[in-house]
Amino acid sequence: MAIEKEKGAVSIDAQNIMPVIKRWLYSDKDIFLREAVSNACDAITKFRMLNPGTEEAMQVMVSVDKEKKTIRISDTGIGMTADEVRKYINQVAFSGAAEFMKQFEGKKPEEQGDIIGHFGLGFYSVFMVSDKVEIETLSCQEGAEPVHWVSEDGMGFELSEGFREAHGTDVILHISEEEKEFLDTWKVREVLNRYCGYMAYPVMLEDANAKPVEKEVPVGDEKNEDGSPKTEKIMELPKPQQINDTAPLWLKKPADCTEEEYKAFYHKVFMDFEDPLFWIHLNVDYPFNLKGILYFPKLKNDFGTHEGQIKLFAGQVFVADNIKEVIPEFLMLLKGVIDCPDLPLNVSRSFLQNDGYVKKISAHITKKVADKLNSLMNTERETYEGYWDDIAPFVKYGCVKDSKFFDMVKDAILMKKTDGKYSTLAEYKAANFDKTDKKVYYTNDEKRQAASVKLYTDRGIEVAVMNTIIDGNFMSFMEYQGKEEDRVTFARVDADIDGLKEESEEGKELDAEKLQTLFRKALGNENLEVKLESLGDAEMTAMVTEDEQMRRYKEMSRFYGQSFPMPDHFTLVLNRRNETVQAMADRDPEDETTKMICQQIYDLARMAAQPLEAEEITAFLERSRKLLNRVVKG
Ligand code: ADP
Repeated sequence: MAIEKEKGAVSIDAQNIMPVIKRWLYSDKDIFLREAVSNACDAITKFRMLNPGTEEAMQVMVSVDKEKKTIRISDTGIGMTADEVRKYINQVAFSGAAEFMKQFEGKKPEEQGDIIGHFGLGFYSVFMVSDKVEIETLSCQEGAEPVHWVSEDGMGFELSEGFREAHGTDVILHISEEEKEFLDTWKVREVLNRYCGYMAYPVMLEDANAKPVEKEVPVGDEKNEDGSPKTEKIMELPKPQQINDTAPLWLKKPADCTEEEYKAFYHKVFMDFEDPLFWIHLNVDYPFNLKGILYFPKLKNDFGTHEGQIKLFAGQVFVADNIKEVIPEFLMLLKGVIDCPDLPLNVSRSFLQNDGYVKKISAHITKKVADKLNSLMNTERETYEGYWDDIAPFVKYGCVKDSKFFDMVKDAILMKKTDGKYSTLAEYKAANFDKTDKKVYYTNDEKRQAASVKLYTDRGIEVAVMNTIIDGNFMSFMEYQGKEEDRVTFARVDADIDGLKEESEEGKELDAEKLQTLFRKALGNENLEVKLESLGDAEMTAMVTEDEQMRRYKEMSRFYGQSFPMPDHFTLVLNRRNETVQAMADRDPEDETTKMICQQIYDLARMAAQPLEAEEITAFLERSRKLLNRVVKG
């Protein structure tokens, strides 16, 4: 029975949507190729399910014809009968259409492309780039007849007898003038590489206008006089090229993958010439389906500018990079591929955020990452330490962002110390807390704070290096973890002298009050706090400290761009065991040299912790010259 020509309108949903698609879409149009090619792959899967063990070659051919202005996507799949075309193309025109409309409206145009990019538009997305779309299809059912379907706007259609002779479907897109860039093979190749690079059946790309090229081929077994094989030149059409790798590494069993394969895959997918540090192969079948490989790249401490890349696939079809709803945000610092075939991608993003299934995926990935860190820490401590500088920002960021992650990895958090060695918090406590006032002393700039660091290390107190952009937040976070009595405080090496004080009040009895007045006057700072203490090193004249909390507050205000100046909270700590300090107590406060020495002591103490400002340096140098002059003159 021949198919009678029939015309009609596609479903209501599509009628509403087509104008929106046409009017609004100006970015991410290229997903039409993903939609068409993945439909083609699905059709092949369906055919194979109905015909298990088939020997037929299965492939999707994408043929670009610049002259005819068409792209043809041709598959060897299940095909459709006329009824199926009516049902699947005309009626179920748009899966999740209503949901899509809700999402789409009320969004700014620049956000709309984003939505499209992440969620399949289905078959009708081809109208974003086409003036006319044709389908030529033949169902694999016995006795099926070929069907031709054509629509100019995605709203009205015409169905008639078709021409296909073998089962499968051709979707022919007549590319509109505005979208003619899609008639360039390189453009199509680029889009196919991105979205279809790992689809399950060979995806071939063909240039329909390609001209034959000259090629040298052997002439049977004939040989030249010198014994080399005889060849002749022939003209041959370039062969279609396969775009994809149908068996991506993440689908292989972890036990069957070699280190070289993991590295090669990483280099290829992320175009990173450096090797990754290590990786995790995710391979879950139950209770959900999840495959993937997560790589820990070398971050080199430039975490602020670092951008990871997690490519999300749904059944070997690329969906998008870095979808926050599925992958925990802190994991975005890593690089990897994640394939969740059952991901409900046709729903809104807010649905994804609240979806229990997605939450489970996210929690599973987090746990796998934590397990890997713990196992490295417990079984390969030395190797793990070697990785630490690179992974520290990631781990710390993860802890601050997700307290569950922190709970899982808390025993695998290391602190690098100024001696280049690493310890956990527990190890640091055990090694140092009996010598200090139970704080973790740290430096955020080893060079600038070298002198202050030395005060601690000379006394056998270890100093942690906290110099990444996340460390400020991380330390504040850590200070609120655990039981009250176990909580830890961090103090920068120039924050106080609590860890440096001598128990004995050894040293000369000095008039603290008098010294304070003397220094305040000489420095012209009535509010300066001056303390007199017995510091361990008698050679040391004084230290300038700045309260840890005040300094952090100041740094934070600066970070958040507050413009009003925050006052400095410096304290000058004079060492009563130091001879110069002792001598100062007896000097005439009105004497010019006395004042200069006070200023010099203050500047020297400050310089030990941080560099002076430009004008302060100038004053310091000038004063030094004058003092030298006074010394030589007696
Ligand atoms: P989805 O793929 O999400 O179901 P689409 O709008 O992309 O939605 O496709 C609608 C339906 O049209 C498909 O489910 C399938 O039944 C049919 N279809 C589309 N393309 C093909 C094809 N190349 N071969 C066979 N059937 C197809």
